Amino acid sequence: MMTHNLLIGGEWIDASTGETMEVVNPATEAIIALVASAGKEDVDRAVTAARRAQDGPWSKLSARDRGRLLWKVGERLLERADEIARLETLHNGKPIFESRQIEIPASAECFQYYAGWADKIQGETIPVKGNYLTYTLREPVGVVAAIVPWNFPLLLTSWKVAPALACGNTVIIKPASQTPLTAIALGQMCLDVGIPPGVVNVVTGPGSTVGRAIVEHGGIDKVAFTGDTSTGREIMRGSAATLKRITLELGGKSPNIVFPDADLDAAVRGATTGIFYGKGEVCAAGSRLLVDRSIRDEFMDKVVARTKKMVPGDPLDPKTRLGAISSRSQLERVLGYIETGKREGASLVAGGARADIGTGKGYFLQPTVFDRVEPGMTIAREEIFGPVLAAIEFADVDEAIARANDSTYGLAAAVWTRDVKKAHHVARKLQAGTVWVNTYNVYDTAAPFGGYRQSGFGREMGQHALESYTQVKTVWIDLNA
Ligand code: NDP
Repeated sequence: MMTHNLLIGGEWIDASTGETMEVVNPATEAIIALVASAGKEDVDRAVTAARRAQDGPWSKLSARDRGRLLWKVGERLLERADEIARLETLHNGKPIFESRQIEIPASAECFQYYAGWADKIQGETIPVKGNYLTYTLREPVGVVAAIVPWNFPLLLTSWKVAPALACGNTVIIKPASQTPLTAIALGQMCLDVGIPPGVVNVVTGPGSTVGRAIVEHGGIDKVAFTGDTSTGREIMRGSAATLKRITLELGGKSPNIVFPDADLDAAVRGATTGIFYGKGEVCAAGSRLLVDRSIRDEFMDKVVARTKKMVPGDPLDPKTRLGAISSRSQLERVLGYIETGKREGASLVAGGARADIGTGKGYFLQPTVFDRVEPGMTIAREEIFGPVLAAIEFADVDEAIARANDSTYGLAAAVWTRDVKKAHHVARKLQAGTVWVNTYNVYDTAAPFGGYRQSGFGREMGQHALESYTQVKTVWIDLNA
């Protein structure tokens, strides 16, 4: 059993509440750790520590040295990748294949990518009228809070912390209560490589109290949030009084559009990995499969055949490609959507029930496919956040675009076609922050990611993220004699 305190000002300290939270392994239902459950007072302490570090050692370090430290965090993550990947799998239930081969390396890469930016964040000189030298400085916003969900605990923490630090901010991480272990490990690694105390703080505790205290705190300058759209709304309301900067990366109901001229076998793979990677607990999951009517039967047969081959297994087994749903409550929520799909008349063609991997324990679910879904059905409109695919047909390109855009969300979308003109045409018409053509779920730290519509605003990753973590100061020098 692991036990963890709060990381504040470089020290691991007890929560002022004296309380702890249990962390459960969703694959075994066993309690694997106890972490401190912070209160409002701890948020105050973290803000004081972060501000002191911001005004002190962190702002005195050269940008290049900041970059060196970030690079070392990436190195440390790679050195400890086996152990960190195991932790990620233990608290989230995702296959070790995903944690070890994809997400921990991507987290390390994120730190090393932003290490390169640290000394390249610069202002400009502006040709103004009159005899002035006018230039801009790009300065850190100050103390940044990263509020992180449980689906990609380390990766989504890295997407926030790495650019925030590269820009010279200090950070308070509020991990999801279900999955705090890798953020805690990251906090220790930041100390180990020599990032000064107080620059990175980790405050574990319930979103309803600690998260809210962060959002409302006058000493925090920016909140970077990923999570549910309804929580995003609360964060927007809560941050209004202090006019805090916020970026929100929220839910999605992303369409995956298959035209008849596509490489259908590749599209089948894209349709299934698009929804089943990460057990479908992915904000950009391709949860709405839009298929041209003329190929629907053939295509859906292939999707179902491939889905039936995907069997949930022990997440720690390197061969497993479908792990455990992250929590009992999430499992129940997803099963509830499956019932709604059946009740509303969609045709269940694969899965639809809990799975047992032979242990009688764990929140496993069969990968599930609904065919003949109508665009108005609940399972076509709401984010299920589980391995449940809803297939909807369309008659032509215009109807495909209309159906794809018929959503309050706009996080991602994909198009499968061999026709280059059609691909570009549809990509431009789709209301989504990311459009993939003939692929799904590809990411790179250099490429911006974020939402249209109610999927949020602001961009993570790439050069674009630097804008969220800096503010521009304009300096005028009078050169008149
Ligand atoms: P939340 O959006 O509530 O949680 C994300 C993070 O926000 C967690 O760290 C959480 O803390 C924190 N938080 C919760 N409430 C507040 C608040 N009022 N102020 C500040 N921070 C807060 O997601 P849930 O874990 O509750 O999941 C609910 C549903 O959201 C899921 O079933 C899923 O469908 C969807 N979801 C979508 C995600 C996405 O990326 N699109 C990611 C995660 C969930 P704590 O963990 O302590 O509650």
